[in-house]
Amino acid sequence: MVQKASRYLVVSDSLYTDGDKRPVRLVLNTRTSRVSPVGDAVACTLRAGDCGPLPDDVAEQLTELDILVPDSRDELTDVLDEQRARARSLASLNYALVPAGFCNMGCEYCGQVHVRGKSTANHRDAVRDRVLRGISRPSTEEVHVGWFGNEPLLSYEIVRGLAAQFVTAADDRGVRYTSTMTTGGALLTPRRLRALYEECRIHAVQAVIDPARPYQRILSVLAGLMPEEFPLLRMTIRCDLADVAEVDAFIDAALAAGLNRPMFEFELRAAATWPRARFAAAEPRWLRRMQEAGLGCGTLIPSPLARPLCPAVTRTAEVISSSGAIFSCTEHPLVPAHEQADILELVAHADHNRQRPAGRYDDWHDRVNRGQQPCSSCPFLPTCGGRCPKRWDDGAPACPSYKHNIQQRLDLVAAKSGLLRCS
Ligand code: SF4
Ligand code: SF4
Repeated sequence: MVQKASRYLVVSDSLYTDGDKRPVRLVLNTRTSRVSPVGDAVACTLRAGDCGPLPDDVAEQLTELDILVPDSRDELTDVLDEQRARARSLASLNYALVPAGFCNMGCEYCGQVHVRGKSTANHRDAVRDRVLRGISRPSTEEVHVGWFGNEPLLSYEIVRGLAAQFVTAADDRGVRYTSTMTTGGALLTPRRLRALYEECRIHAVQAVIDPARPYQRILSVLAGLMPEEFPLLRMTIRCDLADVAEVDAFIDAALAAGLNRPMFEFELRAAATWPRARFAAAEPRWLRRMQEAGLGCGTLIPSPLARPLCPAVTRTAEVISSSGAIFSCTEHPLVPAHEQADILELVAHADHNRQRPAGRYDDWHDRVNRGQQPCSSCPFLPTCGGRCPKRWDDGAPACPSYKHNIQQRLDLVAAKSGLLRCS
């Protein structure tokens, strides 16, 4: 069989020596996230997009690792078919609900308009009816509800009331129910978290910290959480930072609070004012620091997408705002330029037996397949999926930082696996 190098390989620029003093490079296959040491000569051939004539045993090994694939295979279409199939599955429903129209934070990085609540009993009932109808559809196997936008804890009782009905309905029908919440954290208390965890089945919470405001109290509330009380909880602490000094101060504060425990994971991102390339260049240093200090910071090597990219490309996912409008993209209800222009329909008038109308980005996979987006030729498509169609449409690349610093990440992986970098 004629074979070729997979288009989803990243070969390390660095040369290392392995335990037998052989020169090797690391080869990352982004379809599997596997990183393999490969002899220098073969790795350089792969980097050129070729596989050249290889000894049978080497070819066999590389085939097993999916580094070599049949020449006839259209990998771009394969990857997009997999991603599209997930986005079109009727078995999984995803509702992103904005229960409050008013946030108590007013963070500078946020594009939201901070107006006091527009949520009315009428459209709350319509939201409830719509989610319950989704749960009861014969094709539904799992339902995910994400509470986000503004500050969902301002609507704590509304969340509890609605979630209790969703959980009961899902249990009655044997539908898997999962739920997450994104919060500024200031209104989070252990008592509330216990209710959200036990009654509302919120097993993943993202606390978004604003570094421009005092955040020590939030960190110490989080530090008081005991894993035995919340065995399934995934607590992510996200912070959008403006420069390296802010990053170091934040890491110091997290360590001082004792958050270097397995139940916490950190996601440090660049604020809008920090150029992405500069952020990416600096990031490996603090990833190493966090790893050494035991602060969870995800994996160095990204995993292949296991779920649909985002609600905006998924017809069975929808965003329902506090004013009762249905959107496809989570940013649309929160940003003035889209809040009116991108309403797909009103929940009070929607036919709950039908999925939401098509939004701006539902043809994303087709666009990539037609080569209309730079993602078509990117080796990170299996892990990234294009990250954010809205951002691309706004004219800004949406690439995650690992696209820019994967080489330094491979160096960190090499160091952890005992490979020595050649100078
Ligand atoms: S298009 Fe971007 S902002 Fe909109 S839902 Fe997808 S990832 Fe989020
Ligand atoms: S967003 Fe960037 S990293 Fe992701 S697939 Fe597209 S080009 Fe690649």
